[in-house]
Parts: sequence; structure tokens; C-alpha cells
Amino acid sequence: MKTPIRIAVTGAAGQISYSLLFRLAAGDLLGPEQPIILQLLEIPPVMPVLQGVVMELTDCAFPLLHRVVMTDDPKHAFRDVDYAFLVGARPRGPGMERKDLLRVNAEIFATQGHALDEVANRNVKVLVIGNPANTNALIALSNAPHLSPHNFTAMTLLDHNRGVAILAEKCGVSPAVIHNMTIWGNHSSTQYPDLHYTKIKGQDALSLVDQAWFVEYFIPTVQQRGAEVIRLRGQSSAASGANAAIMQMRAWALGTPEGDWVSMAVPSDGSYGIESGLVFSYPVTCDAEGHIHIVKGLTINDFSRQRLHITESELREERDAVRHLLHRRL
Ligand code: NDP
Repeated sequence: MKTPIRIAVTGAAGQISYSLLFRLAAGDLLGPEQPIILQLLEIPPVMPVLQGVVMELTDCAFPLLHRVVMTDDPKHAFRDVDYAFLVGARPRGPGMERKDLLRVNAEIFATQGHALDEVANRNVKVLVIGNPANTNALIALSNAPHLSPHNFTAMTLLDHNRGVAILAEKCGVSPAVIHNMTIWGNHSSTQYPDLHYTKIKGQDALSLVDQAWFVEYFIPTVQQRGAEVIRLRGQSSAASGANAAIMQMRAWALGTPEGDWVSMAVPSDGSYGIESGLVFSYPVTCDAEGHIHIVKGLTINDFSRQRLHITESELREERDAVRHLLHRRL
């Protein structure tokens, strides 16, 4: 048996984690040969709920689940971790404005960035899921000066998967034959789901659907898909979020398939004119050593340029609202 790897999950008693933890314990991240230790972080009021979830995990008798740690101390949760899923975040409460939401979450992610900096494995892969995910990732990485910014990403793979699924349904094909979907920008309604490079069985997707469908249906439907799930289900998407979190971390750890890419929010290096340092979703490839490469050289037309500008502006505003918590020059 291999040495167990340590995986931290925050917000471990919440909805997304209720799906995520069981899939991690079943080996969906790194396969059936890799034992794991789960290090679960929660806030004190929901510890009893977390205990109940851990009882259920135990009752599954997962052969790969070596041990489970439950704690409300980030330094305990992140000690020596190889992977960290930062799921927990404060939802918007009654009367709370967007800037209040940014501020309370910024404080949570600054604390977690510090703790990761102090105690996590130096190669830790940190995936931020809790919203506002891009800016939370920016805060965490800027409070972790001894880790590389490249240790951090935020999740846009669910938006990517939604784009693939909606296109597959429209064209009557399996999602498996769709490649090179792209989500640019923020994990919010300003994101830009882009089909300009997407292929269906090797054919350009935009030659198979009309422009009006792309602009008037596809883009807003991907952007608003989360709200639509809430309307129908009465609560936010959880299983699809957990699935995307595992897929994004798996692609990062094991690599992307030849000829395809995934969308991930990563620290911008200035590619495509986006301000350097913002955590921006790009098309990326990952190599087998766990390095992420932004796909370069794509042609950006005027329509796309405008969309990129809108989502970049929103990320700048978010960054400016929490600037006092950014402790590293990016
Ligand atoms: P969920 O598990 O449903 O969601 C967690 C976070 O993921 C939210 O910020 C949510 O954003 C975000 N998210 C990102 N993508 C998606 C997606 N596609 N679909 C749904 N959500 C998405 O929230 P719960 O409230 O059930 O659980 C959160 C847990 O976090 C609670 O148990 C709470 O106690 C805990 N928590 C832990 C903290 C810590 O460990 N220090 C700090 C704060 C909270 P959105 O709100 O926009 O849906």
C-alpha cells in the first residue's frame, strides 16, 4: 500500500462537502491505489453536524480512508496537506451587501492563507470553491508568501462542464466528443463562456450552431445556470460542484489529455492583456508534474475582447475592495 496523502476540506459539514468527502474517500481523486487522510475544517457551531457526516464516512468502511481529522483550527487542518479544497465560505445574509460579503470572506481566506503558508506541504495544491472564489483565492495566495502563487487556483471547471453539457444537448452528441471549451474570467455572472475554439468531433462548434444561439442562449444560460438550479431545487448545486472540484484537482495533479484543455482560474501572467496577478479563468493545460500552463496564442476578436474586459473589470473591483488584506505584491 502507498503512503497516505493528506487532503484538507474546509466547510466540511456543508452541502458540497456532503458529496465531495464520499467521492474522495472512494478514490475518485487519485485512483484506487492511493490511501488518503481527510483533514476536515469547520466552524465550532456545526461540529456536531460534522461528527454525523464523519460517522457516515466511517460506516462506508472505505478501504482507502486511512484516517479522518476534525478540527476548527486551520493550522491543524492544513498540517502537511498535499491537497486543500477550500469549500467553506459565508453565504450572503439578510441585508448584507456585496462588499460586506467580500469583506467577511476575505478575512476567512486571509487566515487560511496564513495557515497554509505555515504548515502545508510546499507543493500543496489549493483549490478555492467558496465564493467569491477568484478573489478568495487571490487573498489566500497573497497571505501565503512562502508558497508560490501557482499553488492556488479557483474553480471554474463547473462552468466549463455546464458549457460542454449544454452544447452536447444542443448538437445531440455525447459530452465526450466536445473539446476545447473555454471559460474566461470570474466565477460569477460576468464570466465569458467562449465557443470560438471549441470542437465537436473535430469540427468547429460555431460552424454547427448559429451565432444568435451562441450569444443569446448559450452565454447567458451558462452564466445563470447556478441560479436556475437554486430556483428548481430550492438550494444551490452541490453534487455537480463537488464533481467539478474533483475533476479540476485531478486534471491539475495528473495532467490534461493531449489536444484538449480545461478552464481554471489561475494567477494571471498578463496573457491576453489581463492585469497580471488577478486570479482569472483561462484555458489551461496541465502536465504530469502538476504544472499549469495558460494556453497562449488564441485569437481574440472584438466581441470576445469586450467580454474579457467586463469580467476583468469586475475582478479588479473585487480586488480593490479587499486590497487592505493583500500582503504580497503581485
Ligand atoms: P455549500 O457547500 O453549498 O457551498 C460552499 C461554497 O461553495 C459557497 O461559497 C458556494 O457559493 C460555493 N460554490 C462555488 N461553486 C458552487 C456551485 N457551483 N454550486 C454551489 N456552490 C458553489 O455551502 P453550505 O452553506 O452548505 O456549506 C458551507 C459550510 O462552510 C458550512 O458548513 C459552514 O459552517 C462552513 N464554513 C466554514 C468555514 C471554515 O471552515 N473556516 C468558514 C465559513 C463557513 P454560493 O454561496 O455563492 O452558493
